[in-house]
Amino acid sequence: GAKANDLEAYWMPFTANRQFKANPRMVVGADGMYFKLSDGRDLLDGIAGLWCCNAGHNRPRIVEAIQKQAAELDYAPAFQMGHPKQFELASRLARMMPGDLNKVFFTNSGSESVETALKMAIAYHRARGEGQRVRLIGREKGYHGVNFGGMSVGGMPANRKMFGSLMTGVDHMRHTHGIEGNRFSHGQPPNGAEMADDLERLCELHDPSTIAAVIVEPLAGSAGVILPPKGYLERLRAICDKHGILLIFDEVITAYGRLGSPFAVNHFGVEPDIVTTAKALANGVIPMGAVFVQDKIYDAFMTGPENMVEFFHGYTFSGNPMACAAALGTLDTYEEEGLLTRGSELSPYWEDAVHSLKDLPNVIDLRNMGLIAGIELEPRAGKPTARAFEAFLKAYEAGLLIRTTGDTIALSPPLIIEKSHIDFAFGTLRDILKSLD
Ligand code: PMP
Repeated sequence: GAKANDLEAYWMPFTANRQFKANPRMVVGADGMYFKLSDGRDLLDGIAGLWCCNAGHNRPRIVEAIQKQAAELDYAPAFQMGHPKQFELASRLARMMPGDLNKVFFTNSGSESVETALKMAIAYHRARGEGQRVRLIGREKGYHGVNFGGMSVGGMPANRKMFGSLMTGVDHMRHTHGIEGNRFSHGQPPNGAEMADDLERLCELHDPSTIAAVIVEPLAGSAGVILPPKGYLERLRAICDKHGILLIFDEVITAYGRLGSPFAVNHFGVEPDIVTTAKALANGVIPMGAVFVQDKIYDAFMTGPENMVEFFHGYTFSGNPMACAAALGTLDTYEEEGLLTRGSELSPYWEDAVHSLKDLPNVIDLRNMGLIAGIELEPRAGKPTARAFEAFLKAYEAGLLIRTTGDTIALSPPLIIEKSHIDFAFGTLRDILKSLD
């Protein structure tokens, strides 16, 4: 039983935050662009919580929607029953999404959306009599959550070091597009088709008729805001089509306005077979995710006795009423305030602000798109991540929340951000970067 007197003794943080308890940074409130800290200070949110609060914090439409829903219907069984808001939300999302991605399956997180996508890809092939297609291909620098499938297709080796060998039939495309020669390029760097050709290498190595799906983030977020080089996504689409492989876009970060379009699918004009989303779908207020699949995938295992395969999938909280209400309130807010395209209006200003850091010491690359940015710092000799972490701590003291991933500073603010906030954020970063040794 519990013995320690200090309450935090019992709580286990994200395992990457082992040092957190020694110096807890506690949030007690939030409003709009700001968090309120336990010491009374305001903290400008430069990362939308954790790339999720795209409409900002404590927004009235969302609060109201949740309160109303809680008083009306708290839960509806996800098994053999349903409730009207699931239909309403799915149809609204399908209308926002271009192309044939018309069927929407609800989950509770990005990790669950990824598992759902990978399982549905395999189920699709099985239903079509292609049971040998079970192999899954990810890419170096991809991040797809922490569950078994997503961890395995993920391309950050440290994350899967202990478990990677337990999921077989997975391989990774190489990230051959180093920053060498492409530093500080505004927008997408060149030669993406060449990088995508690594998929052809894997097709030769494994026999393409054993590959079920390729999964990529259209823009790799967690590995340091890495933009797809020009032609990369288009070429992946073409190679997948050639070999009958499904293409999955993991849009857990990019969906709901981050790039200045509702989805990366709109932004890049490339349609995958499956899209995973979560994070900003319910504005980070309630755990919620949605997987979009093309009609052909739904038809393969959800219709007609001739198509039925044994495939069991679903979560107790899939599309629960509270999450659907929060998501509907979020979509109302996005639409009423034009937030899903606000990133494209602000992106020239954002781009100038990002590239204003170009000549500061230790800055070795700057990347931006819509309202997302990566500021890559030269790692300190023998101490990777230390320089960026110091920047994080100094920014926190100065009233700005950033995220670091390796030695890259990531920014992805709420889409309600004003130019004055951008000025404050980059002015603060400029002072901090000047002060770092
Ligand atoms: N996929 C991507 C692209 C992500 O960025 C994340 C979270 N950072 C995930 C999946 C996992 O999402 P969650 O933490 O909600 O499980």
